[in-house]
Formats: sequence, C-alpha cells, structure tokens
Amino acid sequence: MLYQSTRGGWRPVSAAEAIKQGLAPDGGLYVPEEQVVFSPAEWERLLGMEYPELAFTVLKRLLTDFTSEEVRQCVSRAYNPDTFDSPAVTPLVHLKGNEYILELWHGPTAAFKDLALQILPHLLTTSLVKTGEKDEIVILVATSGDTGTAALDGFHDVAGTRIVVFYPEQGVSEVQKRQMITQVGGNVAVISVQGNFDDAQSGVKAIFGNQPFNQSLAERNKKLSSANSINWGRLAPQIVYYISAYSQLLKQRGTRFGEPVNVVVPTGNFGNILAAYYAQRMGLPLRRLICAANANNVLTDFIRTGVYDRNREFFKTISPSMDILISSNLERLLFEVTGRDHRQIRSWMGALVEKGVYQVDGETREKIRAGFWSDSADDKQTRDTIRDTYRECGYLLDTHTAVGRFVYQRYLEATGDDIPTVIASTASPFKFCSSVTEALFPEEPAGQDEFHLLRLLAERCGLSIPRGLQGLENREILHQAGTTPDGMRAAVGKVLGL
Ligand SMILES: *Cc1c(COP(=O)(O)O)cnc(C)c1O
Repeated sequence: MLYQSTRGGWRPVSAAEAIKQGLAPDGGLYVPEEQVVFSPAEWERLLGMEYPELAFTVLKRLLTDFTSEEVRQCVSRAYNPDTFDSPAVTPLVHLKGNEYILELWHGPTAAFKDLALQILPHLLTTSLVKTGEKDEIVILVATSGDTGTAALDGFHDVAGTRIVVFYPEQGVSEVQKRQMITQVGGNVAVISVQGNFDDAQSGVKAIFGNQPFNQSLAERNKKLSSANSINWGRLAPQIVYYISAYSQLLKQRGTRFGEPVNVVVPTGNFGNILAAYYAQRMGLPLRRLICAANANNVLTDFIRTGVYDRNREFFKTISPSMDILISSNLERLLFEVTGRDHRQIRSWMGALVEKGVYQVDGETREKIRAGFWSDSADDKQTRDTIRDTYRECGYLLDTHTAVGRFVYQRYLEATGDDIPTVIASTASPFKFCSSVTEALFPEEPAGQDEFHLLRLLAERCGLSIPRGLQGLENREILHQAGTTPDGMRAAVGKVLGL
C-alpha cells in the first residue's frame, strides 16, 4: 500500500518514504491510499491481544513495506517495561457510571506524545535503511511543550539523526521547559522562540518550504524531516490505543463486543482525535468523536459552522498543549470526507495561508457534524472540573484531561447520549502541577516553585511522581539558546554548522 499527498502534487510513496519525509514535498500530508478495514474475525483476535501484539498487528497492516521482523523490533523497543511504567501501556480506569479514563501518560515524559515518539525513531531509522538513505536526517520540531520533551527522549543519540526543538519561550510549563533544556545527547539542540506555538510551527514550516536552504543542506548530505504529528509515523501508532481502550472496556465488562462507545479527546493539532477517526474507519465501533477545546476554540467553531477562522485572539491557557489556532491534521480529515478531493484541499489550505480563513461546503460540514461534536472549556471551568472530579471520584485530572471531562458533561447535557465513553487523558497531572495545585488547593500561595509543588501534590494526594519527572531540578541545564521567529532558520544553520 502506498501513501498519497492530500494536495495531489506529488507521486504516491511507500510508508518508509512517507515517514522519512514527514511532510510531502507539495506541502500536503501523507495518507494511506487504501482504507484498511479489519474483518469481524480479525477484530475478535485484535481485541484479545496484549498491547505490543496489538501494535504489531495494526502497524503491519499500515506499513506494508516493512517486514514483520522490522515492525516487531520497532514495537518491542518502544513498548516495554523500561519505557512504560504500566503493563497495559495505556491503562483504562473506571471513573464513574459509564465514564472511563484512558491514561496515555505512562511513558518517559508523562504525556501521550510518548506513545508515538517512543516508536517513531525506530520507524524512521528502519525507513532510512529501507530507502537506502545516506544523508543525515535533521528532525525539526515545533512544540507546545509535550512533543519537544517526548521527541528529545525518543531521538537522543539515535544514529543517523539530529534533532532541533523550538519551544515558545512563554508557552511551556516550568517542568516541560526543564525536561527539554536538560536533555542529554550528542545530536540534540533545544532553542526557545520569542513567540507562541503557532509562530514556532509556522517558522518550522517555512524552513521546510525554503528551497535554497534545503539545497544547501542537500549539498552537505543532510535532509529535513518532521516529528510533529503531520508525520504518518506518529499518527499510525496512536490508532493502537483506541483499540486497546475498547478491548479493556470489554474485559472490564463496560461494553459488549460490537456495541458503540464514545471517545472524548482534548485536542490541539487534531492528531490524537484523527487517530480515533482512523480506528473507527478500520471498524472499531466508535459512535461520536468528541473534540474538546480550550479558549482557543477554533475547532469547536469549525465543527459547528464549517468556517475555519484563525483570525482571532490567541489565549494562553492552563492547558498550553492545546493553545493552537492552526490544527494541521484537520487537512487529513477534510481530505477523507471530501472523497479525496485534492483540488478542494489545495484551495482551502491556500485560503488559510493567505486569509487565515476558509469555509467548507454544506455537504462536508454535515459529514463532519455527523461524526464529531465539540465544545470548549475556559480556565475556570477547567479548574472547577479538576476539583469536582477529585472530590467526587478521588481521581486527579491534569488540565487538558479536565477540558475533556468538562466538554463531555456538556455533551451529555446536550444529547443525553450516555453510552460508555472513553476520555483520553493526555498528560499526568504532575506535568502541569502548578495549575492542578491551584485548582485543588486554592489556599496555597501563588508563584511557588514547580518542583516543590510536585512533592506537595504527591504528598497531599497520596500519589507518586512519575518516573520521568523525578529529580528534574537537579539535572544540569545544557541548552540556553534563544531566537526570534525570523531567526529560526539561521539558528538551524548554526546548529548544523552551515
Ligand atoms: C499534544 C497534546 C494535546 C493535543 O493533541 P493533538 O494531537 O495535537 O490534538 C493535548 N493534551 C496534551 C497534554 C498534549 O501534549
């Protein structure tokens, strides 16, 4: 099976080539040419599998140019007791009634990005060998916090690769920042950008699109690639945990085989929820994909009205990994629901770049509305949800997951559709401990050191600090470089010695 670009300006390529390139040369995103669907008998087998076997089976069907041995090796290196501190990898926890929490934060950096970024380096290095690549691959990452930490953990000291991470100076938590600037590895660079996440992401996209710069890299046997969720190698592994969630729900007798469930996903770049959409297309019985947004609710408006308008105020919220106004992966959804209409995608994406806004036709809008539902939570609603959930259920949510649960409650009120529902929990509460502490213990003075708050939260809630966040304040600071959005290309040049 080959992969085609959503914009139709490039020939279809193998999975290995798609993973190596990240973004297609015409600016589009790679999607599988065929729709993979598992038969009922296959579903029965899939739903009985442990996580690594499930990951192997799903990825083997998607990455058809990889041998079984190659996929198996990538999977076993990514999902094992050294990387994930739960045997289920993504355990499903019963909250109350028909509500379940899918904990996606048991990996090394305590956020869901680990599920994809622990395996992507292995998929990529395998792809380099398979495609006979001789150049060094330079991974450029723009991060709202979690991608950067997870990509650095996944890629450090991976042979044949360099990684350069840009993070918005004011847009990440102290814990996230410390995770990044203390990252060891001979092939890593971490650079702060004076701007927000969209500035960093646009800067990275501009570097990808800069022909002379790419040419001069090529002359030095280097090639750019991406670890952002535009890379198919990141999206594919995320499909697995939705299947795992359903399988765990069956085991906990939360549903019966074939019965539908809803999924709630705290959304930013639309990668995580898109993985749920692909799982649904493979035949997983998901009814509604509920897209939870924070005050940057461009997706909520889009799902309701069919108008995508990024010309609006940008808010810094307490769920910073969702502070995004340009959701790149939406392009893949639009491609699928328009029946793969390249021309239409080019025109909408062109309008987004030129005017910051586009409107889809009525048919596309209705198709999206049939499958998705969306609402948003502001910071107060987020904090209230953290507090109320802790009081009611004794379960501690992080700020992003709290946005998800708040929006789910809105969904219940609006629709009465109370079938079993899986809320994707995208980060450990410890990763955003100052906001979580503020929500739970408002009497605590503001402005306390985040590392102190980690311990406070652990003690007061009787939880242990995730492995990857322990001892963070004692690690040596190794990266202090900073730049402006306009200086990003030069910064990459400097790192690479151009
Ligand atoms: C990245 C991230 C999100 C948003 O996920 P997308 O795939 O970009 O929609 C939500 N929550 C957390 C904690 C994240 O790190």
